[in-house]
Amino acid sequence: MKKQGLLVIISGPSGSGKGTIVEQLTQRENFSLSISATTRAPREYEQNGVHYFFRTREEFQRMITQNELLEWAEFCGNCYGTPRAYVIEQLQKGQNVILEIEVQGALQVKKLYPEGVLIFLVPPNLEELGRRLTNRGTEDKETINRRIHRALEEMEFVQDYDYVVINDTVAQATQDILDIVHAETMKCSRNQDIQKTFKGEI
Ligand code: 5GP
Repeated sequence: MKKQGLLVIISGPSGSGKGTIVEQLTQRENFSLSISATTRAPREYEQNGVHYFFRTREEFQRMITQNELLEWAEFCGNCYGTPRAYVIEQLQKGQNVILEIEVQGALQVKKLYPEGVLIFLVPPNLEELGRRLTNRGTEDKETINRRIHRALEEMEFVQDYDYVVINDTVAQATQDILDIVHAETMKCSRNQDIQKTFKGEI
């Protein structure tokens, strides 16, 4: 039987650079990236089915009712959720899967799927976080302030995660996450049938 893939959950406040890091990870290693559903309006450059599945509140509610979401949460006034089928299918194929989701959803996944690896990405300091959010230019001032406020609340959850990575430079943070993933695949608990490989040889 094929070994299950690793479920890697990356959270971190808006402005921590999650998007960039996840892009680097998917370019450098064979990860499947789960595309979330959201009720948020698309940003100018965002495409339906590429960045998110953009849904109305009613459509999102229907996905919840029909148990199509592995987890979901409300974040700064919008709903976000992970479509279940894709994640399960990829993991069963032996493919590693990345979820880039906020803390409430990440903790739901960890309960359902304790083998998942929770990584919390943080910016080097608060000034840098504010600067990144402002420079992004995709949100108005009120939304930026809400997101900074929420970022501080989210930092409280760092202790519930398995690893924390400081995003000082994209290259180093990407490498740190690849190192974590590499080490996780070698955990004894993920390799319990290793003895069987030898038995046939004695
Ligand atoms: P944004 O609006 O900036 O794209 O995302 C806002 C927050 O929602 C980010 O922290 C992002 O990681 C999170 N998010 C994106 N997709 C999901 C999801 O499927 N579930 C949950 N719980 N959070 C998500």
